[in-house]
Amino acid sequence: MQPEEFIMLCVYILAGVLGLCVGSFLNVVIYRVPNGMNLAKPASHCTRCGYTLRPYDNIPVLSYLFLRGRCRKCGERISPRYMIVEIVNALLWLLSVHLFWKENIVYAALCAVVLSTFICIFFIDLEHMLIFDRFVLILAAAGIVAIFFDTHTVWYDHLIGAVAAGGVFLLIYYLAIWVLDKEGLGFGDVKLAAVTGLLLGWMKMLFAMLIASVVASVVLLILKRVRDDENGKEYPFGPFIAGGAAIALLIGDPIIEWYLSLLAF
Ligand SMILES: [Zn+2]
Repeated sequence: MQPEEFIMLCVYILAGVLGLCVGSFLNVVIYRVPNGMNLAKPASHCTRCGYTLRPYDNIPVLSYLFLRGRCRKCGERISPRYMIVEIVNALLWLLSVHLFWKENIVYAALCAVVLSTFICIFFIDLEHMLIFDRFVLILAAAGIVAIFFDTHTVWYDHLIGAVAAGGVFLLIYYLAIWVLDKEGLGFGDVKLAAVTGLLLGWMKMLFAMLIASVVASVVLLILKRVRDDENGKEYPFGPFIAGGAAIALLIGDPIIEWYLSLLAF
């Protein structure tokens, strides 16, 4: 094994293990932020019997599997979301490293942070229909870093992305209020779109919104059929923005380059 290969192997292992541990922390964030709780205190505990998790109850994925998704003391079911968040975060961190590390270490780290933030937005908006400003601010900061370190997108494309995405969503927001006399989008969606446009640049943002709209249409169509929801039931759009943006961040560049090469023959 060459030294570079060995280093790369270490980077992968580190990204996977750290990804799992940070995923475990994201679970705390996803549960506590919407409930207005402190992130550090109290220590993680069962919401039913109050059993405080010991370190060995807190090992990502393994503890969940070993306890078969139940509290050690009272047997209360623990949502599989905890394990899903840990695994998805680790996989996204591995992908960030795999796709970007060799070319651009800063951008790989940036992607990891951004993807973890999207996970929080995804699950909190799904459950509470709320997008908290602190996540928008993290993405805004990441967007400013991306202006300097995203080597596939020119700096002003990021700025155009922010203005265009924010502008379009703001227009939809006011249009819905004017036509439907209610919010079709939350204002959180407008802010999220603006910072995501800044982060991705307008081309990747367009790709992200294409995925978001198609997936959202299909999912809402299925949900309306299956659950027979009354008209006027509201669904969050943030999870679709976050999901589309995550995909565009990871694979948007090669797809856009391929598409442009088709146009240029
Ligand atoms: Zn319990």
